[in-house]
Amino acid sequence: MLCNLISEFLYSMNDLLSTPIEYLKGVGPQRGAILRKEAGIYTFGDLLHYFPFRYVDKTSFQKIADIPKTDGFVQLKGKVVSLREVATGRIKRLEAKFEDGSGSIDLVWFKGAKWIKSKLQNLPELIVYGKPKQFGPKWNIAHPEMEAVSSMQEQAGGLQAVYHSGEKLQALGFTSRGFENIVSQLLPQLKNQIEETLPPDILGDLNLLSKEKALLEIHAPQNNELAKRAQFRLKFEELFFLQLELLMRKQITQKKLKGVKLTRVGEYFNDFYNNHLPYELTGAQKKVIKEIRVDIASGMHMNRLLQGDVGSGKTLVALMVMLIAVDNGYQACIMAPTEILATQHYNTICEFLKNMDIKVELLTGSTKQSKRKILHEQLKSGEINILCGTHALLEKVVEYKDLGIAIIDEQHRFGVAQRSRLWTKNDLPPHVLVMTATPIPRTLALTFYGDLDISVIDEMPPGRKAIQTWHKTESSRLKIFQFLENEIAKGRQVYIVYPLIQESEKMDYQNLMDGYDSITRRFPLPKYRVSIVHGQLKPEVKEYEMQQFVKGITNIMVATTVIEVGVNVPNASVMVIESAERFGLSQLHQLRGRVGRGADQSYCILMTGYKLGQDAKARLETMCETNDGFKIAEVDLRLRGPGDIMGTQQSGLLNLRLSDLSRDAQIVQLARDKARDLIDRDPKFEMKEHQNIANELRKILKSKPNWSRIS
Ligand code: ADP
Ligand code: MG
Repeated sequence: MLCNLISEFLYSMNDLLSTPIEYLKGVGPQRGAILRKEAGIYTFGDLLHYFPFRYVDKTSFQKIADIPKTDGFVQLKGKVVSLREVATGRIKRLEAKFEDGSGSIDLVWFKGAKWIKSKLQNLPELIVYGKPKQFGPKWNIAHPEMEAVSSMQEQAGGLQAVYHSGEKLQALGFTSRGFENIVSQLLPQLKNQIEETLPPDILGDLNLLSKEKALLEIHAPQNNELAKRAQFRLKFEELFFLQLELLMRKQITQKKLKGVKLTRVGEYFNDFYNNHLPYELTGAQKKVIKEIRVDIASGMHMNRLLQGDVGSGKTLVALMVMLIAVDNGYQACIMAPTEILATQHYNTICEFLKNMDIKVELLTGSTKQSKRKILHEQLKSGEINILCGTHALLEKVVEYKDLGIAIIDEQHRFGVAQRSRLWTKNDLPPHVLVMTATPIPRTLALTFYGDLDISVIDEMPPGRKAIQTWHKTESSRLKIFQFLENEIAKGRQVYIVYPLIQESEKMDYQNLMDGYDSITRRFPLPKYRVSIVHGQLKPEVKEYEMQQFVKGITNIMVATTVIEVGVNVPNASVMVIESAERFGLSQLHQLRGRVGRGADQSYCILMTGYKLGQDAKARLETMCETNDGFKIAEVDLRLRGPGDIMGTQQSGLLNLRLSDLSRDAQIVQLARDKARDLIDRDPKFEMKEHQNIANELRKILKSKPNWSRIS
C-alpha cells in the first residue's frame, strides 16, 4: 500500500512514467496484459521499478567438480547431454544431465516439464544458476535459472541484470533476458526525465547517486561498485520516506492530542525513592524513568513502548511512574493479561508500598460482585490511587475519577481493540505505557513502532547469575532426572514444559500426559508433588495448580506454554523444555526467563530429538550461547524474516521493493537519522529544496488509516 503510494507519487511527477506499459516498444497489448497480471507492471514507471534481484558476472563460473567445496549458489557453463522423465510414486520429475568438462550434475524440475524440454532443445550451450543439493553421492540443482550462452555474449562488458520471471511470463518471452530487452527500450527515454527526490545536502553527505543515475545503473550497471551504489541509493530513499512518514505521523498525533500534564514529582515519589526502595535502581531504570517523566510532564499525550528483557525490572519502573500520577492527584492502573500476573503485580506493589499511605486495589474476573461494587465506587470517588487487574479494567462499568496513566504489561497478549478502549476512560486520554519483555530488533522497532516513543531497559539488576543453558537428547534423560532430584533436594523448584496443546493436537496431549506419567513415577508421592497445567483444563483448576507451584507447595510444574508470560517464582531454578526444536527463539527465551529470578544459579535444559534441521540447530546454539534478549531477537529476525515476527497486522510496512529489514539494518538507521534531522531543521518542509518531499508526504499521510494511536 505504502509502496504503491510512493510509486504513484513518483510517477505522477512525469507523464512518461505513467504511460501504460503496452505502449512501450516491444510490448503491445497481449504481452502488456501478461505483464500486468503476472508482474504487476502497469506503466513505464512500474517497469522502471521492477528491479533486478541479482547480477551475473559473465566472467565468473564454477566447475561442477568443485561443487562439493562451494557453499550456496553456483553459476555453471555447460551442455545438457541427456533428458529423462522419472516417476517416484505419484511425483514426476524431469532430469537433465548437465556437463561442463569437469564433471556432471543433474538439473531437476518437478513441474513445467513440457515447457522446459522444448526450451532445452533450443539451447545447445547454456549457463545455469542455482543452489546445488546433495543426495547420497550425487548432486543436483532443482529448478535452476537458465540462460543461453549466446545471449550473454551479445552484450559487451558490465554486469548482466537478472529479473524474476515465471512460467507464464516466460511463455510470452519475458525471461530475465526478455525483461532486459524491454528495460533497454525504456532507459534511453529517461534522460533528464527523472526528478531528484532527495535534498542536495543528503545527496552530498551520503555521496549518493542522483535518482536518474541510480535508476539507470540498477538495471544496467557498468560495474559492481555502481550496482551497489545504485541499490544503496534506492534502498535509502525507500526507507527514508518510510521514516519521514512515521515521524510526520507522530508529529501530527502529538499535536492533536493533548495529554494530562503530570509535572509534579512530589511527596509520594520522593518518599518511596528515599525511604522505601529496597535497592538502588539500575542505570537503565533511572534513564527510562527520566524519559517517561519528561514525556508526561510535557502536556502532550504519551504513547510509549517500554522494552526490557525478562527480569530487567519493569514492574518497579511502572510503579514509580504510577507514583508520579498519584503525586499529581491522578489515578493509575496496571493491566496484565492473566489473573495470576495481575495478582502478582498487586502483591508486589502492595509489598513495595506497605508503609505508605496509598490505596492499591485488585480487580479481576474473579473479584466478587459485592467487592466489585465497592471498588467501582472507590474508583469513581478517587479513593483508590492504583488499580491492578486484568481485562476486567476495560469493562464499561469501570469508571475513574481521573485516570492519569494506564500501564499495560506484556502487550502481545492484548488485542489492539482492547488497548484502544482505554482511551475512552477520560476526557483527556490517559498516558499509555506498554511494557513488553519481547525485545524487538531495532530496525523493526524503528519501522513498526516508528511513530511511538521507545524506551529500553538494557541492563539487568546487579548480582544476577547468567542462566546456564544445555542442549540434551533422550540419551541423557536419566542423568537429567538425577540433576532435577539434586536441585529439588536443595529446596529448588523445576519447570518442565511441553509444546502447546490445541484441541486438535492429540499427539501433543499424549506426549504431555506420557511425560507427566514418567515424571510422577520418577518423583512419586509423598516425597514429591507435581503440578500440571495445560490449555484443556478449566480456568479455576489451572489457577489452583499454578498457585500450588507459586506458593512452593509443589516441586515440579509440568506445563504447556501457558506459563510463558511473566510468572515470577524466584525459587524455581530449572527450566526443562521438551521438544525444544519445535519452539521459536523468542518463545524459548521467554520460557527460560521464568528461571534465574532469584539469587541461585539457574539452568535451562533444551531436550530435542536426534535429527534437527538447520534452523532448529541455529536456534538451540543461540540459546546455549547467549542470555541477551536483543541478540536473540536479531538472530530470530535473520532466521524468520520480519513478516513472521511482526505478523500480518502491519504487513503494509513490509511491502518494500528493495530493502530487507533483516539485512539492511544500517540503512534503516541512517534513514531514520536523516529523516529526524530533516524534520528538526525544517519541520514544515518550508524550504525550497524540500518541496517535493512535502508533496509526497502529504499524499501518503492523507490516504492511510491512522494506526498510530494504538501501539
Ligand atoms: P520484568 O522486567 O521481567 O517484569 P520484574 O519487574 O519482575 O522484571 O523484576 C524482576 C526482579 O528483579 C524482581 O524480583 C525485582 O524485585 C528485582 N529488581 C528490579 N529492579 C531491581 C534493582 N534495581 N535491583 C535489584 N533487583 C531489582
Ligand atoms: Mg514483568
